[in-house]
Amino acid sequence: MGTYAVTGSASGMGAAVVGRLVADGHTVIGVDIEEADVVADLSTPDGRHTAAAAVLERAGGVLDGAVLAAGLGPAPGPDRARLIAEVNHLGIVELLDAWRPALAAAERAKVVVFSSNATTTMPMVPRRAVRALLERDVPKALGSLRRFGRMAPTFAYGASKIAVTEWVRRAAVTPEWAGAGIRLNAIAPGAIRTPLLEQQLATPAEAKRIRAFPVPIGGFGDPDQLAAWVVLMLSDAADFLCGSVVFVDGGSDAWFRAGDW
Ligand code: NAD
Repeated sequence: MGTYAVTGSASGMGAAVVGRLVADGHTVIGVDIEEADVVADLSTPDGRHTAAAAVLERAGGVLDGAVLAAGLGPAPGPDRARLIAEVNHLGIVELLDAWRPALAAAERAKVVVFSSNATTTMPMVPRRAVRALLERDVPKALGSLRRFGRMAPTFAYGASKIAVTEWVRRAAVTPEWAGAGIRLNAIAPGAIRTPLLEQQLATPAEAKRIRAFPVPIGGFGDPDQLAAWVVLMLSDAADFLCGSVVFVDGGSDAWFRAGDW
């Protein structure tokens, strides 16, 4: 049995992953802004530092895996774009920087980062914002999103998911990650029925946009089914999975990306 860190453990897909890991007999260290083993606000440098250190202490310096599911959706609000950039990008890369030695100390550790199919289906996300996030410069990223006005959180969401996915691909294949035996991968869900989606559906304009979005299979995804994919990506079946982005989105990514060959 292993020891796993799960961020976003209090709700939605993170909570569903915790449920499955605990049922399988694993030890889970949950991180969230409330109702978690480690309570920390991942939108601040202090919160990220506290979360990283507290998990390492509880794990005794060895982690068999980590699931980075804490995240904010593209809701409106004056400070929302910053919160999205901090939680969805820095809340993943800074924690994984800190946990990498503990993951390397385990045999064949596995990491699953929550991306989104927004990475391939959202148009007009400014490259400058993505590059700034990859440089971990949130003010610069926000500067390049200012022209979007009240739509800035939507594009901050797209930029945060593209940046963290690019980071996964770049890091996964390096000596520090693959070379240390750590399998680093991402999952890219479509619209999944969690409190995050429910919050978006509560706004009529947003609900209309979500329901008009092409989903070939139809409907919304189920959080527990997504958790089953994550658990597979943490299992021995994923020993040869490295730097991959697994889309579980009812076909939207395929619909948008099928080429003209
Ligand atoms: P959710 O809202 O149910 O859960 C997200 C969790 O993150 C919550 O428990 C919340 O408290 C935590 N969190 C938010 N801000 C935090 C902070 N500052 N510090 C610590 N914890 C914080 O959402 P979900 O749908 O389960 O989302 C999980 C991941 O999947 C997110 O990264 C989200 O972007 C991604 N995703 C979701 C969907 C969807 O349709 N639900 C689609 C694509 C990607």
